[in-house]
Amino acid sequence: MVDLFKIGFLTITLSDVIDIAIVSFIFFRLYITLRGTVAAQIFVGLLIIILVSFIAQVLNFRAVTWLLRLITDIWVIAFVILFQPEIRRLLVLLARNPFFKVFAKSESHEIADVIVDAAFQLSQHQHGALMVLIKSSGIRGFAETGELLNARISAPLLTTIFFPRSPLHDGAVIINKNFVEAARCTLPLSQQTSVNGESLGMRHRAGLGISEQADVLSIIVSEETGSISIAENGELTKGLSREALKRRIDFALKDPEKKGWKGFIEQLKSRK
Ligand code: ATP
Ligand code: MG
Repeated sequence: MVDLFKIGFLTITLSDVIDIAIVSFIFFRLYITLRGTVAAQIFVGLLIIILVSFIAQVLNFRAVTWLLRLITDIWVIAFVILFQPEIRRLLVLLARNPFFKVFAKSESHEIADVIVDAAFQLSQHQHGALMVLIKSSGIRGFAETGELLNARISAPLLTTIFFPRSPLHDGAVIINKNFVEAARCTLPLSQQTSVNGESLGMRHRAGLGISEQADVLSIIVSEETGSISIAENGELTKGLSREALKRRIDFALKDPEKKGWKGFIEQLKSRK
């Protein structure tokens, strides 16, 4: 390989420069991705131990080196155990060929379409609605506050439920995969009473409240304005377009395994 220059006794070749650039890039991307997560803090801890043990080795402190080696080994095992689900997903992500994605048109697409249709029909008629989509674990307790249905989801079913003179129109509908689990449910109200200076009514606070307490996506259709909002992880977004709503529902309903890098980073960031 071509020698570029020399620093003292060190000869720097072109491959060294490329090598260092690639490693820097990987570390930089890793840092950007992990910034602010628990994984980053654990990683920094590991780096410090490695650095100290390197110094101990150079100074020939055998006992300290032995001790630190022991800690490093345990640390690595602990890291693997703690982050087992993330590591598993990382490997799945690395192994999956984007080529196969083309064929994997999932059921979540159809569910998203149904819900988007229903929401916009309700919005057009200015019929208020509150739909809670379960993302991971169920919310049995809240479903039981209403009327258990377990009916296959469809746009006419949802618009019928929220028809203002229907007995089930009050409260929230809980949707689990492609089933409407329950209607007329009472949800916990959020403590937040306004967002960006606009005060929130009960429907919006209930949608927000459940998203603070459970892993769900709430869709709120306003009776007053017909506008469509969603609440996820305690955050309310108002005035969604058809496309934006569809995208958000699609993403929320996808299996964690199928969410790709974005989902992986989301999972890391939600780690407490
Ligand atoms: P809109 O924009 O549709 O008026 P809003 O946020 O201003 O919505 P309200 O006008 O207070 O809310 O809407 C009242 C409706 O919200 C009730 O009729 C009921 O259906 C629903 N609601 C109120 N409290 C709850 C609750 N705890 N859980 C579920 N739904 C609720
Ligand atoms: Mg109101």
